[in-house]
Amino acid sequence: MKIATIVGARPQFIKAAVVSRVFRATPDCTEFLIHTGQHYDGNMSDVFFDELEIPCPDVHLGIRAESQGAQTGRMIEGIECVLLESQPDWVLVYGDTNSTLAGALASVKLHIPVLHVEAGLRSFNRMMPEEINRVVTDHVAEFLFAPTATAVQNLTDEGIPPARVQLVGDVMFDVALSFGERAERHSRILSQLKLASRRYVLCTIHRAQNTDEPARLRTIVEALNRVSEELPVVFPIHPRTRAVLENLQTCVFRPAVITLPPVGYLEMLMLERHAAVIATDSGGIQKEAFFCHTPCVTLREETEWTELIQLNWNRLAPPTDGASVAECIISAIGSRGDTEAKPYGEGKAAERIASFIVSRAHAAAPRDFR
Ligand code: UDP
Repeated sequence: MKIATIVGARPQFIKAAVVSRVFRATPDCTEFLIHTGQHYDGNMSDVFFDELEIPCPDVHLGIRAESQGAQTGRMIEGIECVLLESQPDWVLVYGDTNSTLAGALASVKLHIPVLHVEAGLRSFNRMMPEEINRVVTDHVAEFLFAPTATAVQNLTDEGIPPARVQLVGDVMFDVALSFGERAERHSRILSQLKLASRRYVLCTIHRAQNTDEPARLRTIVEALNRVSEELPVVFPIHPRTRAVLENLQTCVFRPAVITLPPVGYLEMLMLERHAAVIATDSGGIQKEAFFCHTPCVTLREETEWTELIQLNWNRLAPPTDGASVAECIISAIGSRGDTEAKPYGEGKAAERIASFIVSRAHAAAPRDFR
């Protein structure tokens, strides 16, 4: 059984860390790793392969950021060539990026069944490029691995046959469990930045709806400056956000906002585990905040991870007014949510995915690569 896994962006490398490990330990299973090149900086790509011990990609397509259409188109073309040559039995894609969409479309048109990990997530906001990517991918995938009961319900509501959907839990929980202790042992980031546990706020921003709207980004900067009067703010800045901030010259951070380049996963996990509050527009980081029992404020109008709002670990603060966003972040300090609930499974998602694929491998029809 040969699985071609397609990755291209930071959260996909992180998810692949645990799934690839299980595939490679599964008898008669070969994984062929295709990196599209969507994220290519050392601190957005290589660092994860090194510290999470992800095998080197078999193919690196080197497709850099361009317009959505050009990037996705070039990826489809490149992936199609690789699939024709490597002839996998399955193609596995993660999440909701252009690499996910391109991988799914290239495969399904070659009649190679697509496996979608992190299926069924919905913001119900079609202005988000990620929403389009995940809806299309879910509808062309052969089997969909949903992380939560809400995700399963979303797929049911869209008419996807239940036999194609598996509730497996969240692979990011597997990763956080697997690397949490290692982060505590190896990371020196708290002492390097002179931070005390639970005495700082951690922030990340990268969604187009925040970075591409100068007013929203200015509001976020204002909110972080206000919060920094109470507690230092640590802000590892995504390359896209940095590029926009450099053009918005009026955005100046106060000294207690510590800006830094993106950090590796172990450093990030350490920062998440010890933050007083996390303010973010990232999907993955909302969940990691919960895994660490750190309160989270989501700087968006909506979230795909609605169970975190219900469990009181997360609250929404759309960045429309700096003072109210700052107040929301400060009021989250010291708050606690439900510590009993396990909406993301028990850390066995990768194993469940692998054993499901193995169970289906024998039933798969031979591929026609014309
Ligand atoms: N992350 C990281 N370093 C950083 C920022 C994020 O390792 O400087 C990790 C984070 O811990 C999480 C993943 O990247 O596992 C989330 O990726 P991102 O926020 O880029 O994407 P999203 O989850 O929103 O798709």
